[in-house]
Amino acid sequence: MMVAVPGYADLHVHTTASDGTKTPAQVVELALAAGLAALGIADHDTIEGVGAAQARADGTGLEIVPAVEINSEWRERDVHILGYWIDTNHDELNAALSHLRSSRDRRVGRMIRRLREFNFPLDEARVREIAGTGAIGRPHIARAMVERGYVRSVREAFDRYLAPGMPGYVPRERIEPSETVDLIKRAGGVAVLAHPGALRSDALLERLLELDFDGLEVYHPSHDSPTVARYLSLCTERGLLVTGGSDFHGGTEGEEEAMLGTVTVDVVRVAALRGAACRRKEGLIREEEAHEGSG
Ligand code: AMP
Ligand code: ZN
Ligand code: FE
Ligand code: FE
Repeated sequence: MMVAVPGYADLHVHTTASDGTKTPAQVVELALAAGLAALGIADHDTIEGVGAAQARADGTGLEIVPAVEINSEWRERDVHILGYWIDTNHDELNAALSHLRSSRDRRVGRMIRRLREFNFPLDEARVREIAGTGAIGRPHIARAMVERGYVRSVREAFDRYLAPGMPGYVPRERIEPSETVDLIKRAGGVAVLAHPGALRSDALLERLLELDFDGLEVYHPSHDSPTVARYLSLCTERGLLVTGGSDFHGGTEGEEEAMLGTVTVDVVRVAALRGAACRRKEGLIREEEAHEGSG
């Protein structure tokens, strides 16, 4: 009997285009080595890594799922929203992402100044060098702090200095979760609430699910199996798509993190996601046609 070859997808991976330490080509190579069928390039506030990943995956049979993880904020709580199969040439999306990246830039400058007042003189140029051409953020500050011996690990830098309420913290310029969901949809994408476990509040999750999300990131290294089970039934109840991934950031030595390909979803889930994105784009075309039709 013929059995369909199973395939798995890691739909949440970061690259040097944001705060990952592996290039898009390198994450593709890791995905190939892991035998994945599909890989979601989901950098923070940028889609700059998608093209290079696609170029490296060309002809290998590995499918690259274009994605973005937009860091929105609600009442000083980080709310990360994934957009899958967004149109990477969408002008409004690109303008919004570019605005978010310049606001990251300003925020990092302010955080470095606060840390300096707190007796951690960091060289701003060095932090920028660590970030390279990628969307700059707190992890780059954290790495510079480790380098200077101010802390032992990125985690410690966050826990003691960079998390909300800590001395180095500066809130981000806000993009509302609702605005983010709408933006992703207008760009033809599928809006998924990332790692809901990180919200650490079912009340907040409930509030957020009042927004028109298409899916929930059920599988994530921070979710234990009872949590996964709970989110799975939530998805069934609410008709939400199920996604998942490792949230790989490069596997830097000494940092605990899940390796690429160790948290996955079945390709059937990917097909459902792709279908939803196709319907969304079709809807947008129809809207446009109706608009033209009405003069
Ligand atoms: P930013 O985008 O500048 O606000 O930085 C947030 C990013 O830092 C997140 O998306 C994670 O990649 C990373 N991060 C957040 N909290 C921690 C933590 N406790 N330890 C290590 N990395 C973290
Ligand atoms: Zn990150
Ligand atoms: Fe995230
Ligand atoms: Fe992430």
